[in-house]
Amino acid sequence: MGRFIPLSIPNFEGNERKYVDDAIDQGWVSTGGAYITELEKRLAAYLHTDNVCACQSGTSALHLSLVEAGVVPGDIVLVPPVTFIAAVNPVRYQFAEPVFIDCDDSLCMDPLKLRRFCEEKCEVKDGRLIHNDKVVRALVVVHVFGNMADMEAIMDVAEKYNIKVIEDATEALGTRYTEGKYAGKFAGTIGHFGAYSFNGNKIITTGGGGAITANKSEVVDHLRYLSTQAKNDPHYYIHDEIGYNYRMTNIQAALGVAQMEELEEFVERKHKNYDLYKELFEGFELGRLLGYREGTYSNQWFYSLLIDRTKVTATMREIITKLQSEYGIETRAIWGLINEQLPYLKEECFELEKGPYYAARILNIPASTQLTEEDLRYTAEKVMAVLKELAE
Ligand SMILES: *Cc1c(COP(=O)(O)O)cnc(C)c1O
Repeated sequence: MGRFIPLSIPNFEGNERKYVDDAIDQGWVSTGGAYITELEKRLAAYLHTDNVCACQSGTSALHLSLVEAGVVPGDIVLVPPVTFIAAVNPVRYQFAEPVFIDCDDSLCMDPLKLRRFCEEKCEVKDGRLIHNDKVVRALVVVHVFGNMADMEAIMDVAEKYNIKVIEDATEALGTRYTEGKYAGKFAGTIGHFGAYSFNGNKIITTGGGGAITANKSEVVDHLRYLSTQAKNDPHYYIHDEIGYNYRMTNIQAALGVAQMEELEEFVERKHKNYDLYKELFEGFELGRLLGYREGTYSNQWFYSLLIDRTKVTATMREIITKLQSEYGIETRAIWGLINEQLPYLKEECFELEKGPYYAARILNIPASTQLTEEDLRYTAEKVMAVLKELAE
């Protein structure tokens, strides 16, 4: 006993303490300082993009993207049902309305259903897509668990109907296309906006933090302006717009610079761990490990075991509790569908079927970068044993 296999915990094996100490020693602890600009530079270089704005969280990155995309009260924003609720809440911060579009087998937005919604449920007026007299201004596509959405097909629809594309790449820093039209492009750099998160469970962390990029460098400059209270110049308190206190702090950024030095190593470990799980779960009759989109290199942030519900009828709570209490293995269910959460019960849903299917079947298994081969073997063995026991 006493063994504990965490689901996804931060890894501080590098220069984290050194840089944070340095930031504190210099007295630059707040929303100004060299680590912030350094982190932005490193992110931009890594993502092969011109300009990145560091901010407080993935949620604030998504909110600023919606503001910048021109989402105003009464607009419609197309969103996924299977994701973390922070991908959808900012739509409501803008007093806009979400419409839920189903996912495909990648767990990301289904471009065919997206297209069908636009064709069958909307009309085009003066170059704008209209649904129930409201403008469909933007869509939020989430790269779920680090798996790339079908961006080629999604961008086609978005271009045709003049919809702004906000990529929620909060789980997908490092995921990129290796083939096709977008070969070499990273998740978050294909649409009009890309949002990243450095929350404690993400592939790199700054404690809490996030970043935004956009397809035009001037737009990122404007996002940075909005994130720093829309202050026009360093000397006078002149503000031409409503700003936000969304800037990242230098202490967070100090952590971030250290984490960026390790990011590729973390991604490699995620791959190595995934490959071993894949081997260990091979031929298991009660569940299978989901893969990642072909033609992409995923950061493989999270691993999803799809449970065969014709054989295992136990609730997710039973499975999770048993693994935790008997073996010290931390797992989790995929999220509750957002359209089923109290604040969203009245919102429109379009052809949801895969979302509910996957939501009832996916168990996320430990994915921390520190896990040893022995941890992984132990985890796979016990997960299979518990599912077998519950299937009897
Ligand atoms: C983590 C996450 C967010 C929010 O990021 P924070 O930094 O926690 O605000 C948004 N969307 C998805 C899909 C996430 O996983």
